[in-house]
Parts: sequence; C-alpha cells; structure tokens
Amino acid sequence: MAQPATSARSFPDGEPIIRCSGLNKWYGEFHVLKNIDLSVRKGERIVLCGPSGSGKSTLIRCLNRLEEHQQGSIVVDGIELTGNLKNIELVRREVGMVFQHFNLFPHLTVLENCTLAPIWVRKTPKAEAEEIAMRYLKRVRIAEQAHKFPGQLSGGQQQRVAIARSLCMNPKIMLFDEPTSALDPEMVKEVLDVMIGLAEDGMTMLCVTHEMGFAKSVADRVIFMDRGEIVEQDTPDAFFTNPKSERTRLFLSQIL
Ligand code: ADP
Ligand code: MG
Repeated sequence: MAQPATSARSFPDGEPIIRCSGLNKWYGEFHVLKNIDLSVRKGERIVLCGPSGSGKSTLIRCLNRLEEHQQGSIVVDGIELTGNLKNIELVRREVGMVFQHFNLFPHLTVLENCTLAPIWVRKTPKAEAEEIAMRYLKRVRIAEQAHKFPGQLSGGQQQRVAIARSLCMNPKIMLFDEPTSALDPEMVKEVLDVMIGLAEDGMTMLCVTHEMGFAKSVADRVIFMDRGEIVEQDTPDAFFTNPKSERTRLFLSQIL
C-alpha cells in the first residue's frame, strides 16, 4: 500500500548514517547533553532548534569531534567516535560544517579558501582542486568573486563561500550551526536558497536554525532541545501545528 506523503518524507529509505545512543556530556560539573538518542538516515534533513544554551551547538560539534563526549556512543557512517585519532580523521572527511561566523581564512582568496584543504589534506592536484572549487563556487553563485578576499564580500557572500568550501571536500553529511543568524536580514534568503538546493540534491543535513520557514519547507524532522535534552521531535507539520510539550509551545510562542 502506498504510504502517505508525509510519512514517506519523515522516514526516507536507507540506513542511519548517524547514530547517537545514550550520549552524555559534561563541561566540568555542568551536564550539557543528557541521554541523547538520535538516528539520522542518509538523505534526511533535520532542523534542530531550542532556546539559547540548550546544547544544540555542543551536540552537532560532538558529531565531528570538535567536542568530546564522556558517555554513550556516536557512530557516523559506521565509524565510532572515540579517542581513536584515525577514526576522528575518517569521520571529519565525511562531515562538513558551516558556522555562524563563516570562519574563512581572511588572508586567502575565495578560491584559495576552497582549495586549501583539498590540496593539503586530500593531496588533490592544484588544477583539479581549482576546477572543483570553481564548480561549487558557481553552484553557490559566487564564481565571479573567486579572486577576492573574504573581507571584500558581504556576510551572505562569505557564508556561501563557506558552504562551497565545505562541499569541495565532498562530504556525505553537512552540519550547519545557525548559518544565517549573523547575517543582515536581506542576506538570509541567499544562504537559505543554497541550503534548499543542497537539500533538494539529497544531502544529509543537520541544521541548527531558527528559520522556521526553512524548517517547514525543507525538514523531514524537527528536533526541539531544551536544557540538554531532546524534548520533542516530529515532522514539521505536526511540530508546528500540534506541539506535544509545554516547553515546545513556550518556545514556539517566543519565536513565531
Ligand atoms: P546552544 O547552541 O543551544 O545555544 P551550546 O551548546 O552552545 O548551546 O551551550 C550549552 C551550554 O553549555 C550553555 O550553557 C553554555 O554556556 C555551555 N557551554 C558551551 N560551551 C562551553 C564550554 N566550552 N565550556 C563550558 N561551558 C560551555
Ligand atoms: Mg549554538
């Protein structure tokens, strides 16, 4: 029997590419992540939201070991994240990350920002790295700025370069940590449009964002975190129209 469209969207086929089980993390005495269980399937698009300080950044930073967890397990594409440096390197090859503040190298051109890791980490020949970089710069509609420095670009343009730079490493998963929250309002759309394009191409995406229009149109699942816990997760439809917990309702009333 055919599945209703919403159900097919919320549970795409395929194996979980990310699986966190019983994940706990502390900063000193402070219990920042509490018993997080999270499975992400290949091609799934997830929006992670919640009040400031709820642990969203910490959670996604654990997924590529920018932060260490103390309890539970994180497995990304079959690789368990432990202290094993080889595994950390393997996982980082598969996971791209885009930050709120772009984090481009200011002394390198746009093109050099995009070719640095492919040339030095992947040992891609320079000409090939440049060809790949230009392809992704075109895709984020910024190829004509390839020889400028980040400081000569607007915030929205810099963030699009940051996305292109991640894509140059051919990641299987993209993590976004509030990619539009440092941008002037008129630049938010150009970055969201790039993210929507990625989603349409089937990229597995985990996005921390409060852009609820994006969540509604793109996400397969919205996850709401508060005080280090996953409080609620559902399809955007159910999440926005019929939130189950009081904490979610309060949060939505503050941002919508
Ligand atoms: P969010 O991204 O949801 O705003 P974060 O993951 O950044 O939340 O932070 C969760 C909590 O952990 C906050 O209370 C924050 O102050 C604290 N925190 C974040 N990073 C550190 C750190 N490096 N050391 C100590 N506490 C931290
Ligand atoms: Mg954060």
